[in-house]
Amino acid sequence: MTVAEFRGSLAAVWQDASVHNDLAFPTLSDEQIDRLRVHGEEEETSAGDYLFRQGDESYDFYVLLAGEAEIVEEVDEDADGECEERVLAAHGAGRFLGEMNLLTGQAVYLSARVSEAGAVLRLDREALRQVIADDPELSELILNAFLARRTILLEGNVSGLRLLGSRYSRDTARLREFALRNRLPHTWVDLEDDPEGEALLRGFGLSPCDTPLVVWGKTVLKNPSNSELAQAVGLDTARISGFLYDLLVVGAGPAGLAAAVYAASEGLRTVALDSVAVGGQAGTSSRIENYLGFPAGLSGAELASRAAVQAEKFGALLSVPRTAVALSCEAIGDGGLTPGCIHVVELDDGSTVEARAVVVATGARYRRLEVDRREEMEGTSIFYAATEMEGEVCRDCDAVVVGGGNSAGQACLFLAERASRVYLVVRGDDLGESMSRYLVERIESSERIEVLVRTEVRELLGDGVVEAVVVEDGESGERRELACKGLFTFIGAEPHTDWLEGTLALDDEGFVKTGPQLGNGHWQRGDRAPHLLETSLPGVFAAGDVRSGAVKRVASAVGEGSIAVKFVHEYLARG
Ligand SMILES: Cc1cc2nc3c(=O)[nH]c(=O)nc-3n(C[C@H](O)[C@H](O)[C@H](O)COP(=O)(O)OP(=O)(O)OC[C@H]3O[C@@H](n4cnc5c(N)ncnc54)[C@H](O)[C@@H]3O)c2cc1C
Repeated sequence: MTVAEFRGSLAAVWQDASVHNDLAFPTLSDEQIDRLRVHGEEEETSAGDYLFRQGDESYDFYVLLAGEAEIVEEVDEDADGECEERVLAAHGAGRFLGEMNLLTGQAVYLSARVSEAGAVLRLDREALRQVIADDPELSELILNAFLARRTILLEGNVSGLRLLGSRYSRDTARLREFALRNRLPHTWVDLEDDPEGEALLRGFGLSPCDTPLVVWGKTVLKNPSNSELAQAVGLDTARISGFLYDLLVVGAGPAGLAAAVYAASEGLRTVALDSVAVGGQAGTSSRIENYLGFPAGLSGAELASRAAVQAEKFGALLSVPRTAVALSCEAIGDGGLTPGCIHVVELDDGSTVEARAVVVATGARYRRLEVDRREEMEGTSIFYAATEMEGEVCRDCDAVVVGGGNSAGQACLFLAERASRVYLVVRGDDLGESMSRYLVERIESSERIEVLVRTEVRELLGDGVVEAVVVEDGESGERRELACKGLFTFIGAEPHTDWLEGTLALDDEGFVKTGPQLGNGHWQRGDRAPHLLETSLPGVFAAGDVRSGAVKRVASAVGEGSIAVKFVHEYLARG
């Protein structure tokens, strides 16, 4: 879709959602408003007043008591400051304004302007947090509305950030992934096929070699790092150093998020950090169908954002992008490994975070294919996840998926809805060897999927991007060239434990050993045995895919994250 087409559809999407979606735009009763009154202040408003403005660093929570306010998007601000304005919705008495960024502290994506004079009730962010913590009914109403509004912002493609870059650029892919995984409202202008992209670039006095470019209000960032982008949109404003936390959770996938939710809800001062985004691998899954309680399945992104809101509601601090690079333990008091020991995690920016206990939940990443030219094509046409972003690359073209597990199966089915044909390349003899039956059945009945068993990838063809993959039949030795636009690999996982080598006991494949796996050689305390999920360093626990012997499922990661907190309590109480 070009920028022009998307703009045409934008207001319609928003209007449709605002008219039909009671969850996103509820009207508060007089009684509910009275409960909010004690937390805020009433203010009169005049037509034309802005309650908050797109690009502001933060804003307050407003309930309209009388009059009307419009939600406005200001787009097209170019180098000359020319600005086009579009009214997306209008809200009257009883409605409240704001969305997820009120909780996360991100910058403001839309403006609210009074269109009819009246009055508002204004609560600052701290007061809103208090309401969410103390009033379950209002908490549910407000949080559901915020979540639904963020989804509308994302689905309706409210301009938000504008990202200008080529689909063949690795940095464009990195920035898009960062924006998507962090659910930042944004518009991507692909310089390969959108003529407006060139015009926008000229407007800023820049050329294609300055791309990828992120435009956010008056800020123009040339090929920013993820950290720089996070700073610009207020995603990374929390100061996490300089405190002693009860619990530091490293990695905010399902295991880390569960640990953060349980720890914070049980009163522990908790911080969780992640190098990319909350959600982990699960956040890249288009649909998780086997998670208890969601018979229709739910997207990984939805699971992640709900869990993140839950953790923040209980007071956990979530911080991205922050990468842990080392773990150490500073003994205090009698100098032994006692409860007085402080754990120190060093981050990639050189800062440190200190905590009395740590949960390592850094998960795993998919293994890379052993094939020439892989690195050259990674990021642009070799992928390790199949989400909307990657799916777009293969729309109406062919795609190749490698792997025989459930993740490969899910990716295949997801891509078959977008690509013209999907080849599933499996090394084993039988698809059912390591894939759930329900996926095998759907794959076998899909006309768009061709399964190639006993087959391996031998060669990548293309100029900077994959144009074809050469595969070899393991039995006959016959080679076949599969033309495609994307190669998706799901071939087993490697743990994210480089930063722990030499500090924690790891198994032969690098996964963290815990509890009974430690044996005498790795556990040095004579006064007690290690807790079930405790690592070789007392007070440091491991949960989820990073743990040796883990089941590698969302539900088990969530289970381990929450169980780990039970042992954190025991450690903090008794050492
Ligand atoms: C495409 C796909 C589909 C899947 N579908 C399903 C499914 O349908 N059902 C199911 O049960 N399971 C599914 N899985 C598996 C499931 O997602 C994982 O088992 C689960 O996410 C593991 O959770 P985790 O929290 O242990 O680790 P992860 O999800 O891997 O999260 C670890 C997090 O730690 C962060 N991190 C890593 N290193 C560092 C560091 N040094 N510093 C800071 N942060 C760091 C990472 O960025 C990541 O966010 C799927 C996996 C994939 C990839």
